[in-house]
Amino acid sequence: MGIIDGKEFIERLNKMKNEIWLDGKKIKGEISEHPAFKGVLKSKASLYDLQNSQDIKNEMTFFSQENKEPIGLSYLQPKTKEDLKRRRKMIEHWARQTHGMMGRSPDYMNTVVMSFATSANILRGRENCFPENIQSLYERAMKHDLSFTHTFITPQVNRSQVYLGFSNEPISAKVIDRNEKGLVIKGARLLATQGGLTDEVLVFSAPRLFFDPNEAFAFSIPSNTEGLKFICRESFVGGESAFNYPLSSQYEEMDCIVVFDNVLVPWDCVFYYDNVDAATDFLAESSFYQFAYHQVITRQIVKTEFFLGVAQLLVETINVGEYQHIHEKLSEIIIGLETMKALLEKSENDAELDEWGSMRPSLIPLKVASNIFPKIYPRFSEIIQIIGASGMISIPTESAFDSEIQLDLHKYLQADGLNAENRVKLFRLAWDLTMSSFGTRQTQYERYFFGDPIRLSSALYKDYQKDNHVKEISKFLNLNN
Ligand SMILES: Cc1cc2nc3c(=O)[nH]c(=O)nc-3n(C[C@H](O)[C@H](O)[C@H](O)COP(=O)(O)OP(=O)(O)OC[C@H]3O[C@@H](n4cnc5c(N)ncnc54)[C@H](O)[C@@H]3O)c2cc1C
Repeated sequence: MGIIDGKEFIERLNKMKNEIWLDGKKIKGEISEHPAFKGVLKSKASLYDLQNSQDIKNEMTFFSQENKEPIGLSYLQPKTKEDLKRRRKMIEHWARQTHGMMGRSPDYMNTVVMSFATSANILRGRENCFPENIQSLYERAMKHDLSFTHTFITPQVNRSQVYLGFSNEPISAKVIDRNEKGLVIKGARLLATQGGLTDEVLVFSAPRLFFDPNEAFAFSIPSNTEGLKFICRESFVGGESAFNYPLSSQYEEMDCIVVFDNVLVPWDCVFYYDNVDAATDFLAESSFYQFAYHQVITRQIVKTEFFLGVAQLLVETINVGEYQHIHEKLSEIIIGLETMKALLEKSENDAELDEWGSMRPSLIPLKVASNIFPKIYPRFSEIIQIIGASGMISIPTESAFDSEIQLDLHKYLQADGLNAENRVKLFRLAWDLTMSSFGTRQTQYERYFFGDPIRLSSALYKDYQKDNHVKEISKFLNLNN
């Protein structure tokens, strides 16, 4: 096998019958027909179709020596800078299809699986580590074009650094037994975006002070493994109408709490366990950050272009382009966009081969970009709201345009540049992007996409080479005499 298409993805997912809970009820029947998931699954299916599209198939797939069938390019292990650019092109194609609204388009986690595989040697020869399982997952994922979600955050019970998390019953998912078949896991992890909507769930732990060895594990299991439950928040799909809910009707990915109820993780699915050092080193030294950031920043650039397009169309529609503060606000989006693009390119230009032959993009520019985006994204939302003003609220629905008050709407909601119906269509998009439950969730998502922004900036500060600059000042002031 190799790449699948949308139909194959949907059929496979429906067959899995993952245990998904929404509003206190277990979902029965085909997940692809459920109102909360129908839209996003259709969008996801369209991504799988896109990689089969004859026009761009060669930009979305590659051939490996082992496989005769085309493989999704998100699995390509880059060996050259050219490969990195090829990967970026593929990410852009998928991001454009969803305007950057789907953080968990399959290329995100495929990239993570690829990065784990390129770095599996870090685990070689270490206690309770199985790098061969990472390699076989990678091969299986390529062969069947698997999709993944991931979860690594512990439940938000007590975030004090000295909290040890002792309780009779595990709250945060822990290994409670190791037997001849595998590990037994009990407890919960949060969140998992698209939890239950993927073939597998990849589980690992974020290293921390007082890291419990029972939590120092990583594995990937099928989403329908016995005892695995996905508990959804309420759905933010406003409805099926693309006029009323242009984004939530298509891209509402859902977020879930993942519960492990004595889940047996077979040994051949385990990457490592009971090894705090390996768990810590693997995330720090593998190419996980480099490749995952490269995917994320590429998608966020596409999303920023979408924001710029919406903002400029609002400006033209109500003709506010003569005001300087509008220029300043649009420039903020342009500056954000060009900064992110420059940082991404720098990461590719400064890429270097690692000791296992992978071409890793340079980490510092990517870290800088991922520190910038959580700050500028909420501002982009605010800018759209400020330009749109009352227009963000005067947004009757599609059926109102089909009712006896339609003449009023056509008259009072018209704009210089657009008729009333198209004007409302645009403003409903601006609202869904920034003010609906879908839009505000997008803000929270981008704010926390790669972890807590506070800790991200702290990590950048700690990792950044400052010695030469300090030496320069010491020399200038003659401090060493
Ligand atoms: C919409 C959405 C989707 C998500 N999807 C996924 C997913 O698919 N998979 C996944 O694994 N995760 C997902 N996450 C979780 C995401 O990774 C976390 O939100 C992020 O890592 C921050 O962790 P937290 O939410 O537990 O915040 P907390 O750690 O609880 O932080 C709460 C507050 O306390 C502060 N704080 C806590 N500890 C410290 C500290 N040590 N130092 C300084 N400040 C501290 C933080 O700055 C913050 O202000 C998602 C989150 C959101 C919002």
